[in-house]
Amino acid sequence: MARLVRGCCYILMALLHSGARRAAAGPGPGPGSGIYGMRLEGRPPAEAQDSDVLQVTEDRTVRLRVFGTNIDRETWSQVAFAELEAGGNGTEAGDGAGEQPCPHRSKDIEVLRRVEVSRSTSGVLTLQVKPLRKNERSKLFALCTRSGQAWLLHRGNDTRILVLEEGKPLLPLWLQIILTVLLLVLSGMFSGLNLGLMALDPTELRIVQNCGSDSERRYAKCIEPIRRQGNYLLCSLLLGNVLVNTTLTVLLDQLVGSGWVTVVASTVGIVILGEIVPQALCSRHGLAVGAKTIVLTKFFMVLTFPLSYPISKLLDIILGQEIGKVYSREKILEMLKVTGPYNGLDKDELNMVQGALELRSKTVEDVMTPIYDCFMVRNDAILDFSTMSEIMETGYTRIPVYELEKSNIVDILYVKDLAFVDPDDCVPLKTITKFYSHPLHFVFFDTRLDTMLEEFKQGKSHLAIVQKVNSEGEGDPFYEVLGLVTLEDVIEEIIKSEILDESDLYTDNRSKKKVAHFGKKRDFSAFKPTVHEVKVKVSPQLLLAAHRFLSTEVSLFATAYMSEKILLRLLKHPDVINEIKFDEDDKQAPEHYLYVRGKAVDYFVLILQGKVEAEAGKEDMKFETGPFSYYGTMALGNPSLESRSPSYNSELSRSISLHYTERSESTLSVMVPSKPIGSLHYIPDFSVRALTDLQFVKITWQQYHNGLMASKMDSTPQSPESPHTNIDMPTSEKPESIADETTNLLNEQNSLNRRSNHTLVENSI
Ligand code: ATP
Ligand code: MG
Repeated sequence: MARLVRGCCYILMALLHSGARRAAAGPGPGPGSGIYGMRLEGRPPAEAQDSDVLQVTEDRTVRLRVFGTNIDRETWSQVAFAELEAGGNGTEAGDGAGEQPCPHRSKDIEVLRRVEVSRSTSGVLTLQVKPLRKNERSKLFALCTRSGQAWLLHRGNDTRILVLEEGKPLLPLWLQIILTVLLLVLSGMFSGLNLGLMALDPTELRIVQNCGSDSERRYAKCIEPIRRQGNYLLCSLLLGNVLVNTTLTVLLDQLVGSGWVTVVASTVGIVILGEIVPQALCSRHGLAVGAKTIVLTKFFMVLTFPLSYPISKLLDIILGQEIGKVYSREKILEMLKVTGPYNGLDKDELNMVQGALELRSKTVEDVMTPIYDCFMVRNDAILDFSTMSEIMETGYTRIPVYELEKSNIVDILYVKDLAFVDPDDCVPLKTITKFYSHPLHFVFFDTRLDTMLEEFKQGKSHLAIVQKVNSEGEGDPFYEVLGLVTLEDVIEEIIKSEILDESDLYTDNRSKKKVAHFGKKRDFSAFKPTVHEVKVKVSPQLLLAAHRFLSTEVSLFATAYMSEKILLRLLKHPDVINEIKFDEDDKQAPEHYLYVRGKAVDYFVLILQGKVEAEAGKEDMKFETGPFSYYGTMALGNPSLESRSPSYNSELSRSISLHYTERSESTLSVMVPSKPIGSLHYIPDFSVRALTDLQFVKITWQQYHNGLMASKMDSTPQSPESPHTNIDMPTSEKPESIADETTNLLNEQNSLNRRSNHTLVENSI
């Protein structure tokens, strides 16, 4: 714009001037071209036109637009330039040609014969600017124009040309190229390291040092010392990066030329090679790149120390020391989950980590077995067969013992405490709990699971009773039992899956989901062997009374014929004690009859409990009898006859004895041959009928006679060589120990008084 205005001014001046001259000189050709001003045509790169003096670079051709009068194709010959002395570019102003003659027309600026004329007031001259001489930095030339024969020097600043020495590049081209490439590499390195090293925080480096691969450990060890000085490293890298990028731009400017080409080249070069590629590389392999370029990094840290170190110290003070990434539980968990496909953890491992991390956030209340699902025993229970089998069936090892109500737990029973307890002894539970006296382990419902685990680890009971202080309602606060928790419950929470042991009935104590083998309920009845043997339950006292009665009152069973021991065994035989349930609706039912007149029988009956009616004689006399009345002695035959015939099958006697010893049920019936002729059934001439429920002893001929023979064999002295001496009898069953057996029976009787049920009676008989 300024140039345009100036140009317009020159044109205006030229017009005015030519008009004045023409008026003064009259018509006819003028004295020559008059030049009043000039400017450089176009925008050659090195020329500066900011000042009034035109500046051109040496050794080049420039186009000069001149303004004046009578500009024509011959104007070139009327223009020349005179070199001014150094400092002669003074400040004296002049307008156009002055009176001062042109001192010397210089050859350093040659005006070529080429003139482009557009109007008579303006045209373009072509100047050949010659190189400056050595040691010359610039030269000032002033315009000279010919006026007639004389050359006049123009004195104004706007008609002067300053020729400047051409700016020489500092470095040779090859060096510039090498330097550019080097700087690009450095720029990339700084930028990549900035991302790669700064992304590796000290914590991560420490982790890698401990658990990375061999090469990773090496790299991390190498990087850690400089990474610990985070801000210093950051400042050095950034300073280096900026330094390199700026230098690169300047170098590119010299290499490429100037202007937008430099801008584009440096931008593209720095962005692609100096930023994108290295950052992409270092974001993945920062550790390796950082370790391998550590020397360069250290070098630049030293180089930039004066500036970067103080800045980093300032940052340390303002921001505080870098502590690295810290992961909370949630973050660790989330990180493991998110990196699931790559971290090599399988689902179970992940669950365990999750469970362990969540342990602190859960309380025992979350995992306990609620009180209504707990298996407990009353403290006044008797450890008989049914109680113990109930305990065994649950499969639990630790059983809380309560008093009156389940929430009042007073003791704990371990199943192994029962090792020496015989269910037949019906020991009261209190005896056992008092003996072992295990301490109770109470915890509050809000105890955290990690604390609970610690407690279990310290050797306390692995079953803890969960309680809370209940202050609801009126009255004093009290401890309320909520349930129980075991070590297994805590461990299940850690591993996040159910543990099943060999005796568990449920997979989960809260949902009560049954285990697959639940159907196979344990059956402990096998340990109760005598139950099926005894058909009728009679008390030991009654049995003892029957034994005494028979051996003393009934001559058939006198000890002379049948030993007390054999009689006792006979009475204990399951078939011997019988009963009749009286049917009130059908009093004459055939089942009510023990004997029917005229109907052959082979047994003896002793009434133990209940009433019978006997009907005898032609008159059908009826009379009632009660316990310890007996009938049918004749059916058993004459024992003295039996005893008098020692020849009677002594082999058989031995085997009977043997089988008695073994308590085989079938001995009597199987081993005894059919009755000898002459002792056939006895035909009663009376009937005996039950009037109430009856319990009675019923001994058959066979049983009686077997008993007689067994007694006889027992009493027969045997030689040491005798095979019978080899019969292996338990001590209690040796003949002389009959007194012991009776005592046992009485002992059993005593213990029965303490029992709540009749199991022991069944067992002992
Ligand atoms: P152990 O395995 O040490 O022999 P256990 O099998 O009796 O003992 P744990 O394995 O510790 O008992 O617990 C298994 C599950 O049974 C747990 O959920 C626990 O809460 C529950 N549990 C343990 N004892 C009882 C009990 N007496 N009544 C009800 N649930 C119980
Ligand atoms: Mg278990």
